[in-house]
Amino acid sequence: MAPRLLCPTCRREIQWSEQFPFRPFCSERCRLIDLGAWLSERHAIPGEVADAAEQAPPAADEAPRR
Ligand SMILES: [Zn+2]
Repeated sequence: MAPRLLCPTCRREIQWSEQFPFRPFCSERCRLIDLGAWLSERHAIPGEVADAAEQAPPAADEAPRR
């Protein structure tokens, strides 16, 4: 018996079998939605990281200068 799992996108229950070629997603549509969300998150992160680095130069003022 094939193990069952939930589609990460729409939470529909599917089976880990050849019936669902896009597993762990229930369909190609859900697979693309999840991929799109992941990519947009990746694109958002670099800006946030750059801002945080600019605001917090750790101990730069306390470092001895020559
Ligand atoms: Zn789905």
